[in-house]
Amino acid sequence: MGKEISPYGVALEQLRIAAKKLNLDPGIHAMLQVPKRSLTVSVSIKMDNGKIGVFQGCRVQHMDARGPFKGGIRYHPNVNLDEVTALSMWMTWKCSVMDIPYGGAKGGICCNPKTMSRNELENLTRRYTSMIFDIIGPYRDVPAPDVYTDAQTMAWIMDTYSQREGYSVPECVTGKPISIGGSEGRTEATSLGVDICAREAAKKLNMKIKGATVAVQGYGNVGWNAAKIAYDWGAKILATSDSMGGIYCKDGLNPYKVYEHKQKTGSVTNFKGTENITNEEVLETKCDILIPAALENSITKENADKIKAKIVSEGANGPTTPDADKILYEKKVLLIPDILANAGGVTVSYFEWVQNLEREHWPLDEVCKKLESKMCKAFTDVYELSKKEKCEMRTAALMLGVGRVADAIKTLGLWP
Ligand code: NAD
Repeated sequence: MGKEISPYGVALEQLRIAAKKLNLDPGIHAMLQVPKRSLTVSVSIKMDNGKIGVFQGCRVQHMDARGPFKGGIRYHPNVNLDEVTALSMWMTWKCSVMDIPYGGAKGGICCNPKTMSRNELENLTRRYTSMIFDIIGPYRDVPAPDVYTDAQTMAWIMDTYSQREGYSVPECVTGKPISIGGSEGRTEATSLGVDICAREAAKKLNMKIKGATVAVQGYGNVGWNAAKIAYDWGAKILATSDSMGGIYCKDGLNPYKVYEHKQKTGSVTNFKGTENITNEEVLETKCDILIPAALENSITKENADKIKAKIVSEGANGPTTPDADKILYEKKVLLIPDILANAGGVTVSYFEWVQNLEREHWPLDEVCKKLESKMCKAFTDVYELSKKEKCEMRTAALMLGVGRVADAIKTLGLWP
């Protein structure tokens, strides 16, 4: 993936564009450029071979003017403070665009979970939780899963937090297994939101999701579920990929079978009846809808001109650089930005937190109905603002997100 500009650099540039459009107070712009709090920790654990492993982690809390901090935890060898800071800022805008009462945060540990045992991952998670314990909590900062962390990771966080408090605190974390207070529909929520946005965008272009051709980059939680839901809605999945490479089939892939194959072999590549292609070729597939669902900086000025999709619905956070945004806009590609497209996850996380605080458990159809309504409302708000302002959907989403946060800061005032 391109390395032309760091994720935090991208986030600052996006904020600059929105601030200019909004004529934002320079003081508030300055406040929003930097996180309110960044905690870095060295997490030392006993590895299975008896040696000590030392891992660098952090929790970055960007802004909480609209409510408690909220954001995922990422385990990846490339995790660093720059990336986590950008992700925390995007969380602030995302919660604001969706009009849910949270601020933005993100956490991460620089590690390679693929080479670690379950026991080592549990030790890492529990010690990290203990080290950030003072700044998290149901009314302070509520973590959730992100790349290479999952419901089990959240269960370990909940247990560690609850042990320290002395009673069970399910509302300290979201994305938990259903058996310990997780919400119905959380696992698929991000992808359902990505597909709802793609469906609404298709309507604007007089197209239908049924029969639309789709390419999905990344086949983790977001990518595979987005492929599955789109397929269930009648779309044809032409190509997909993971960190090992991509696959293509002009007659369409069955995402369920691709998932089974990945479970067995560890990758989507070499799937029977498909052609192995590169990750770049997946992005450049001739299709109606492209869903980048891997990591940042996938669509850059180097390849933006080669994108052939009519709609891009960003499952990943920060997959498109500002230069690439401009190229896609000029090519009249309808791009639904990450802070809107992938906000289904944090929205159902919010539903999970509300259910936990109320000691309730909502049925799946209620969760999906509420999500559908929130996603469609946010999509319409952003789409209409983009038409009114004659700008990209990204700029419109940022204007909405940044504008609401700025209003909250002004209303709260600065004390002392
Ligand atoms: P995941 O760990 O489940 O999956 C990540 C996928 O990306 C894997 O299939 C991996 O093989 C693939 N990948 C890694 N490097 C790649 C590369 N160079 N080329 C192609 N594929 C590559 O993570 P996830 O939860 O699916 O998250 C994916 C993206 O979606 C991230 O940007 C994350 O921040 C974002 N996101 C996730 C959620 C959520 O609810 N999980 C919510 C909002 C946004």
